[in-house]
Amino acid sequence: MDWPEINVETQTLILPVFEELGIEVAMLREDLIDSEISGNKWRKLKYNVLKAEEKAVDTLLTFGGAFSNHIAATAAAGKRFGLKTVGVIRGEDDDTNPTLQKAKADGMELYFVSRTDYRDKNLEEFKAHLRDRFGFYHAVPEGGSNFLGVNGCMETLKPDHEKYNYICGACGTGTMMSGIILSLKPHQKALCFPVLKGDFMHDEINNHLLQFLQDEVAVEDYQDQFEVINTYHGGGYAKVNAELVDFIQWFKAETNITLDAVYTSKLVRGVIEEAKKGKFQRGDKVLIIHSGGVQGNLGMNTRLGLNLPVS
Ligand SMILES: *Cc1c(COP(=O)(O)O)cnc(C)c1O
Repeated sequence: MDWPEINVETQTLILPVFEELGIEVAMLREDLIDSEISGNKWRKLKYNVLKAEEKAVDTLLTFGGAFSNHIAATAAAGKRFGLKTVGVIRGEDDDTNPTLQKAKADGMELYFVSRTDYRDKNLEEFKAHLRDRFGFYHAVPEGGSNFLGVNGCMETLKPDHEKYNYICGACGTGTMMSGIILSLKPHQKALCFPVLKGDFMHDEINNHLLQFLQDEVAVEDYQDQFEVINTYHGGGYAKVNAELVDFIQWFKAETNITLDAVYTSKLVRGVIEEAKKGKFQRGDKVLIIHSGGVQGNLGMNTRLGLNLPVS
């Protein structure tokens, strides 16, 4: 199988705050890679799909919450590249959930499990149960957060992006930013903005780096090339307040770019706040990765009665 190579545009963000500070800020439109297999999920799935082909299994099995971008992307990738897909979903089916309904329409078999079973999904007993039930498959962890996922994300930055000295991205599992960090040039630094509350992302990223580099000393050498900025999760994962909704609408009006409510809006807010606080120097060039996820706004709108842009 040939995995399509797609080059997306890098869009300069013309905002007064950046102009006043004398910094150039642009957004890498990974959200435009594909309308269904969006953003970093495209990159994280690439080598997983190719691995399934190499192992000659016809099924991808993966895990996620009910509004997961990764579930949506895996279902669409299965349909696109001719693989069966199974989604092990935390919680129950819901006819009003657009992510789950779309996944089903794309042919994904959904297997709903309790929160306890979901938490224990890596236990041998549960894995054996899945093997019995679904046969041979290539398993992709929640969020596509394996070695192959990191590998795919190492292809995000292109030679054109070498002019940027800061690369900013949102983190859920830290897989994408680990791939980014591993692909940086020496003059570049990654700023990682977790959307989960807590202080574990630095370790998470180091674990991904170690898996890739297989050498503690080599991981040490990367420590100056990234920073985790933990203060922009906005109350925690998928927490949305009126201010964030206003921000998404404001950004759409200014740039015509739709941000998602879980990841990229919190990222961009973080970058703007950090810029105001003097993080960057005049002349710095900052690249923000739009990692996709806009499908999630549909679910936010139905669940919370919001009016977020969805395309
Ligand atoms: C999944 C996702 C992320 C998080 O990526 P990780 O590799 O898990 O850190 C970021 N942005 C969007 C839009 C996503 O869907």
